[in-house]
Order: sequence, then structure tokens, then C-alpha cells
Amino acid sequence: EKYRKEVALRRKYHEQLVELKGNIRVLCRVKPVLKEDQHEEGQSVVVTPDPNNESSLTVLNKGKGRIFELDKVFNPQATQEEVFQEIEPLVTSCIDGYHVCIFAYGQTGSGKTYTMEGSVENPGINQRALKQLFTVIEDRKDMWTYSVSVSSVEIYNEVLRDLLSKDGEKLDIKINPDGTGQLHVPGLRVIEVRNFQHIKKILATARRNRITFGTQMNQHSSRSHALLCVTVEGVDLATGSKTTGKLNLVDLAGSERVWKSGAEGERLKEAQNINRSLLALGDVIQALRARQTHIPFRNSRLTYLLQDSLGKGSKTVMVVQVSALESNLGETLCSLKFAQRVCKVELGPAARKI
Ligand code: ADP
Repeated sequence: EKYRKEVALRRKYHEQLVELKGNIRVLCRVKPVLKEDQHEEGQSVVVTPDPNNESSLTVLNKGKGRIFELDKVFNPQATQEEVFQEIEPLVTSCIDGYHVCIFAYGQTGSGKTYTMEGSVENPGINQRALKQLFTVIEDRKDMWTYSVSVSSVEIYNEVLRDLLSKDGEKLDIKINPDGTGQLHVPGLRVIEVRNFQHIKKILATARRNRITFGTQMNQHSSRSHALLCVTVEGVDLATGSKTTGKLNLVDLAGSERVWKSGAEGERLKEAQNINRSLLALGDVIQALRARQTHIPFRNSRLTYLLQDSLGKGSKTVMVVQVSALESNLGETLCSLKFAQRVCKVELGPAARKI
């Protein structure tokens, strides 16, 4: 009984949070200036988060400051823990049956992988999220029984590959023949996760495979999207009622405008595909935020694959990564314009309800 009250309270809290913050949020993380980024001595910093307003930052362009307003800006000193804190309620909500997507967007080198995967000493969102899931599941073990399963795919040049299979099997997306209209991916490896140690091993396999598949192709990993898809199925031990929550953690391909630098042939096609899929994602998020009736999921493999986690009742966070340095100004402006385009759509009061 106590527990059920707790669940009801938590749901109420989530709904309030969504009411307050919207179910699609765009955050920005400014990468700290590292020694290795300072190719030229004394390069200036052109991105400054507003010290008095946590949702705004200023970009200095030819002596003029341009202000961008997003849902939240993390300054370069923000820790992995602080970034995770912002996302934590969403992670917990997937145990209650919600569908959640978290994306890292930005040019190559802006810190997407650091934010999602992190380093051994400083794990990112993926590991922290899974750890959190197992902690909550343990807390509830007297009332609910849960199973957690994961799959991981890479989308490169609009081709899906299984990151948990040794040979990186190519995959297709199909409509489920059961008549529900849901999508499925035949042949995809789905691993049931026993505990947090187990997930660490699975994440390491996915990372290793991503590198191995990429060796034929220069900078392959920066041109592919890496997805970690977690499904949490719960059964209420008292009533037998079931929930299915999903958490999709996505390290997107680099958003840099490669085609402008004279790319030809395969490289141009690849650049166009990346650009198309990132634009398609932007369009989908914008349409969702505006509560449009038609959501253009089918314009890329990425949005098609994620459609049941991006639709109604789901929650999305896009972390836009930017460099603070002048040498990256052009890309930083592009990324922030992308973020602003998604963000500027007003959430009317009716649209805020799940
Ligand atoms: P991307 O995935 O966008 O190409 P990375 O995550 O690989 O970029 O980041 C590039 C480099 O910068 C890596 O060496 C990474 O460890 C480092 N880095 C990125 N963000 C941070 C941060 N917030 N703190 C410390 N190092 C960072």
C-alpha cells in the first residue's frame, strides 16, 4: 500500500515536471577548452553561458553578441554527475512505463561521446542511467519484478548494423506482421541484462564493435549514429499488471557540414545522408513539440526506428554539444541554430500534458 502511494506520488511528480518543463527539452553543454584543442595559441573563447540565466548563452561573432535561449545550458565546468541529474527523472520514468529518448547532437569533437559514454573514471549518461535503473529495480523488488533487456545498433549511411553481434550483421526495419503496426528489426540481438556489471560488459562490446566496424572507413564513428536501446518490462506482483518502458540513448553522427568542403562521390553521399537524417530528426522533434498531427518519422532510418519512442506520451531530451573556441564558430552557430529551431516552438498549456 505504502509502495503504491509512492508510485502514484512519483507519477504525479513526473507529470508536474513535464507540465513545468515540457516533454521535449533541448539542453546545451559547452565543452571545456582542453589543451589538445588549442591548435593555435591564444584562440579566443566565443561562447559564454549567461551566469544569471541558466537557459541562455551568448556567442560572439565578429564583435557582436548573439543570444540563444534553450531549455538549459551547462557551462564548461559542469560535471557528468550534474548533466545526469538533469536527466535522471526521465530515466526513472521509463521504469514506470514511459518511452524516453536522449540524444547527443553536435560537431565531431564537441563531446557527444563524452556525454553519452564518458570515460572510465567519469562515466556518462549511458552507464549512469543503467546503474540508476538497477538501483530503483532493487528498491522495488518486493512489489515489482522487472526484466531489463538491451540492443545496440549503429546507423551508418542509412544502413543499420547490430553492434552486439560479432560480425556487425546488417539489419532491416520491418512492420510487425502481428497487425499492431509496430516496427521490429528481424535478427537484432536483444540481451537480457542480469545486473549492472553485466551491462558494463555489453557496453564495452558495443564500443569495441563500433570501432572494429569502423576500421575500413576513415572517421567512421563520427559519421554514424550509435543507439543503445533499453527495454524495461515490469510486473506488479500484487495485481499482475504489466508495464513496458523504453530508454533510447543516442550518440548522433557529427553535424559538421562536410559537403561544403568539396566532398565527392561516396563521401558526398555519406555527408548528405548524415545531414538528411539529422534534419529529419530536427523536423520530427519540432513537429512533436508543436503537437502537429503529422509527424514525419519516415524520412530517415533513425526517426523510423525510434518512432514508438518519440511519439505521444514519450519524453525526449536533446543535448546539443558545442565548442567554445573561435575556430569552431561556424559549426557552433549551426548547432545552436538547430537547437533554437527545435526550441522556439512554444508549448501551449494543452500541449504540455502527456
Ligand atoms: P564527439 O563524440 O562529439 O566527437 P568526444 O566526446 O570524443 O567528441 O570529445 C572529444 C574529446 O574531448 C575527447 O577526448 C573527450 O574526452 C574530450 N571531452 C569532451 N567533453 C569533455 C568534458 N566535458 N570534459 C573533459 N573532456 C571532454
